[in-house]
Amino acid sequence: MPSLSFPRTPISEITYTSLPESFYQFTNPTPVADPKVIFWNEGLADEFQFSDWNKQEETTAKFFSGSSLPDGIRPFAQAYAGHQFGHFTMLGDGRTIVMGEFQNRKGEWFDFQWKGSGRTKYSRNGDGRATISAMVREYIMSEAMAGLQIPTTRSLAVVKTGEPVLREEVQEGAVLTRVASSHIRVGTFEYAYQALSLDELEALFRYTVNRHAPELMSAENPALSFLEFVMKRQVTLVTHWMRVGFIHGVMNTDNMSLAGETIDYGPCAFMNGYFGKRVFSSIDANARYAFANQMGIAQWNLACLTNSLLPLIDPNEEKAIELAKAKLNELEMWFQESYIRMLGEKIGFPNLTEKDLPLLRNLYQWMQDREADFTNTFLVLEGVYTPKETIYQDSRWKDWVKDWQEEKKKQGIREEDAISLMQKSNPSFIPRNHMVEIALANVRQGQMSVAETLIKRSQNPYIRELGYDYGEEVPQGGDGNYQTFCGT
Ligand code: AMP
Ligand code: MG
Repeated sequence: MPSLSFPRTPISEITYTSLPESFYQFTNPTPVADPKVIFWNEGLADEFQFSDWNKQEETTAKFFSGSSLPDGIRPFAQAYAGHQFGHFTMLGDGRTIVMGEFQNRKGEWFDFQWKGSGRTKYSRNGDGRATISAMVREYIMSEAMAGLQIPTTRSLAVVKTGEPVLREEVQEGAVLTRVASSHIRVGTFEYAYQALSLDELEALFRYTVNRHAPELMSAENPALSFLEFVMKRQVTLVTHWMRVGFIHGVMNTDNMSLAGETIDYGPCAFMNGYFGKRVFSSIDANARYAFANQMGIAQWNLACLTNSLLPLIDPNEEKAIELAKAKLNELEMWFQESYIRMLGEKIGFPNLTEKDLPLLRNLYQWMQDREADFTNTFLVLEGVYTPKETIYQDSRWKDWVKDWQEEKKKQGIREEDAISLMQKSNPSFIPRNHMVEIALANVRQGQMSVAETLIKRSQNPYIRELGYDYGEEVPQGGDGNYQTFCGT
């Protein structure tokens, strides 16, 4: 592979490969025929002082497609396992490779990873590649998540490869650069616990704690404290998803980041009409990862993490289990508290309590019965969107609004405080499925502008402005039979 000189060398190091070799494989990406940058995240590039690079340069295309590397770089693929739809499997980076760890202007370290960059020893039967649609979809969705201020991996660039990728239909390939606080997953710990020695599990634990919460190393029980740290981040993350109507779609334990970021944008989507059991993923036949199941699944995944940490919590297994169980009970409570608080904020109540839950239940039941749009309904309540839909004329809706107003008054909540909470909690824009599909169809035809506009709008999703056109058009029939796909 020819070596490449950077416009300016960003600060990079690799700490992950200080772990035992069982955790990774040094491997280079496979060069591609004709790399061209089609999306370049200027704002993110600037955060990492990559701003000397630009979309037009051949160097950028070569490096971010993994086709040509600077001297001294030692890329690697990570080993991990995971519970996929409840079944334990050995996995690993089958189509991603970490190019290095880079520091942002604040001095925080992030993994930069090529996705779709060719086979590794963990590829199993896969080709190590990704389609242009799948990578641009990840770029759009992850940037929308960042815009919503929800913890997420980011996307720095998408480079098309000039090579075909064979899926159900042939599409051009692309390589995405993913930026993450780390790529350590629940599945990384499951791998260490199930397949490696206690020393190796301990090494991973020390590495992870040092990277994400070094202060916990001096806690009375570091493993238990770290478990709590990861749990609380997941509580925050999944509560955010529930707030904006996001369905991750494939919450396998290998797709849950210990850093608490949304990761693995495969079959994810935002829902239009509210439906608790909403599923978009074509392979989620049992609705395991349905919208309303996400908090339960997060707890299931965290129980898998807990299990893998048991030997580090206490050498006495019984004692470890007892401590772990107590933490899992707390987890359930943290989820409840966080969820109830979030529900309250969506309707302008700063301190919603359990006794107010029937009010929320009635609203959600009404939305579900009427297939009301999840995003627009809260804008109607806030009073910024005057709906055209007749469902907002029905007596059940009007009665509910009356109950809500009365309860607000009873609790002494000032109108301006309620509005201010609702503005922060309810997005006025989400990248709706039909918009994403139109953008991707354009990208496949070589037209990037529709996707660029969508990304731009997604960067400002809480906009409240005089004259703003609230209440995005929802397609006839809502989400219809909209389907999403994993790993395309
Ligand atoms: P995901 O469903 O994206 O979380 O992927 C599950 C596993 O399959 C991971 O180990 C991926 O690295 C691997 N994988 C997905 N797509 C491919 C591909 N095209 N080639 C090789 N491995 C893949
Ligand atoms: Mg994955």
